[in-house]
Amino acid sequence: MITSVFGGLRRQPLTALCVGLLTSVAVQAAAAADCPGHPDAIGTSRTIVVDPRAHPMIGTMQYAKTLPLADREVVLTFDDGPLPKYSNQILDILAAHCAKATFFLIGRQANGNPEGVRKVRDAGHTVATHSQNHPTGMDRLPLDRSKQEIEQGIASVTAALGDGTAPAPFLRIPGLRVNNGIEEFAASKGLQLWSADFPADDWRDVSANRVYELAMQRLEQKGKGILLLHDIQPRTVAALPRILRELKTRGYRIVHVVPATPDRPATPTEPQQWQLHPPSEMVAISRWPKVPKFASAGPAALPVPALSDLDWHTSDLGARASRRGRGVPLPPVTLWPRQTTLPPAGTLAALPVPARSIFKIPESASMTLLAASARRATSTAQAQARVMEVSSAKPAGKSRHGHAAAAQPPASAGQTAQAPQGAAGAAPKPAAQAKRNGRSVRVAGLKKR
Ligand SMILES: [Zn+2]
Repeated sequence: MITSVFGGLRRQPLTALCVGLLTSVAVQAAAAADCPGHPDAIGTSRTIVVDPRAHPMIGTMQYAKTLPLADREVVLTFDDGPLPKYSNQILDILAAHCAKATFFLIGRQANGNPEGVRKVRDAGHTVATHSQNHPTGMDRLPLDRSKQEIEQGIASVTAALGDGTAPAPFLRIPGLRVNNGIEEFAASKGLQLWSADFPADDWRDVSANRVYELAMQRLEQKGKGILLLHDIQPRTVAALPRILRELKTRGYRIVHVVPATPDRPATPTEPQQWQLHPPSEMVAISRWPKVPKFASAGPAALPVPALSDLDWHTSDLGARASRRGRGVPLPPVTLWPRQTTLPPAGTLAALPVPARSIFKIPESASMTLLAASARRATSTAQAQARVMEVSSAKPAGKSRHGHAAAAQPPASAGQTAQAPQGAAGAAPKPAAQAKRNGRSVRVAGLKKR
């Protein structure tokens, strides 16, 4: 039995693993098929279409949102081109791996090398912009200058494309040096401001090996995201083939990003997909659950509470509230019925019989009671030690149901109550049932003895 249970449990993950492996093999096969002559190419696993106006700022280096990527999906981005010497090599490497990327081109570079812009476009990559002159501190420039940089950059790349098409409305600010004015301006123009999820420091004076290490280490930390590189750096040219090979070895996939157009709607996504690490559905959320909407049953369906259920007086509520004088104030007029008259005798008869132990009287008290009773017995022939006397001359008005008076030691001879120990079924009747003629009455239950 145990074996079969564990066997059954083991079968599911194995099946899932097999399906996963087959899917992975299928994706790789598709990638290889899409990259003729390069069977080891990582390829481009999919293209996502994004709407800049719906998500104007992305990249977790600066913003809460990033591209809606699945685990182990990577978006390659290259800044500062086109610079023929290195940009062409980058394009060749990407072509050899059938990997599609996004290029943030500088307007001035595009003016000097318009053919490089068209090469990027013709290779199927996304052409985006990166200002006109690449100022190092755009966040400190007057906003008008920043606007001018952005617009001139777009105009220069548009001119270089030469076919009347515009670059993608994707913008990356040099050095990621943005300010509120730049962000607002970009959003007003329908531009998507791209930060990144991790850089590889390839603009610094480090080795190509270091660029490779940083790219892989930072990617492993985040599990997915936008990688920031530069296609004008020799160390990037040297590091890129190894990065792409290692990405494939570790099971990463390249995703290409293009902007939405009237003919090309945005890829449907859920809001949480734009977070780098959305909260898992398997983890309990800490928010309080929403109050469910209960259907009203209607007041007629609610049972009317019996008056006998109310064993307190409504006037107590107001008195208690006024005594307290603080905390949550109670309504001045209570919602409960204000009737304070006792219910009819028939209702009281239906009350449960109190337990005998309630009426137990300590041994010493019992002796006193017996002595007092004996004195009375001399003047009344009917009095016997086993008879319980209930005086109704002064009925137990302080008690709601009467039986409390029997549990108390007598305050006077007129209120004597005898309850010999061991009296089976000695359940005194409520005082309300006692005759109200000032004489003692015999309790019927005691006759049985
Ligand atoms: Zn740059």
